[in-house]
Amino acid sequence: MHLERLELVGFKTFAQKTSIEFAEPKSSRAHGITAIVGPNGSGKSNLADAVRWVLGEQSLKTLRGKKSEDVIFSGTPLRSRSGFAEVSITVNNEDKKAPIDYAQLVITRRLYRDGESEYLINGAAARLADIHLLLAEANFGQKSYGVIAQGMIDHVLVASPHERKEFFDDAAGVKSLQIKRHQAELKLAAAEDNAAQASLLLAELTPRLKSLERQMRRLDER
Ligand code: ATP
Repeated sequence: MHLERLELVGFKTFAQKTSIEFAEPKSSRAHGITAIVGPNGSGKSNLADAVRWVLGEQSLKTLRGKKSEDVIFSGTPLRSRSGFAEVSITVNNEDKKAPIDYAQLVITRRLYRDGESEYLINGAAARLADIHLLLAEANFGQKSYGVIAQGMIDHVLVASPHERKEFFDDAAGVKSLQIKRHQAELKLAAAEDNAAQASLLLAELTPRLKSLERQMRRLDER
């Protein structure tokens, strides 16, 4: 599994459609390095933000913004602002690490100025939870060491045992199981709610059952 392409339009400094191709690995062991070089403030870190964002990052602080629409190109004296931001990340999935039938996994996130947002997996609408689960199953979480930003190594060194456990959970591949367990717990809670409501209804209807049965018998006789 490796990164093939990152496409951005209307995301931060990338007003125009921009596509970045990552070098193909020479073998399964020899992966290349792609470096992005540019003067201060030219938007290098915005690319890392785009990777985090498309993988479902929700923290505005991590994305270096105050409001969610801060990721949408805000315009310059020469170019009007964008109405939406879109980032797509293409991952080669020939080794089927991500549990989908496609040789390529394309995740897209789009956000409009009115706050409407959408996620797509290979062009089909998806929920954020689906993306989290898919990435966790592929051992490619955005939360831990998938994207290492400036200052993060220091943070890892001074992390609390609880924070450090997150890294081990990711590395051990138990994240997807934790997500599934959480989803199952939510379903269980919803089922318990339904059962409680059904019991209430039963308690309300049962006392009327006897008299209804009596009425029915009388009608039958008549
Ligand atoms: P450094 O080398 O200093 O870390 P950098 O090359 O990593 O810089 P970034 O931090 O990625 O640069 O980019 C910062 C630039 O992005 C700033 O000029 C900022 O104005 C611009 N920027 C951030 N959000 C938006 C937006 N929504 N619309 C337009 N420009 C934006």
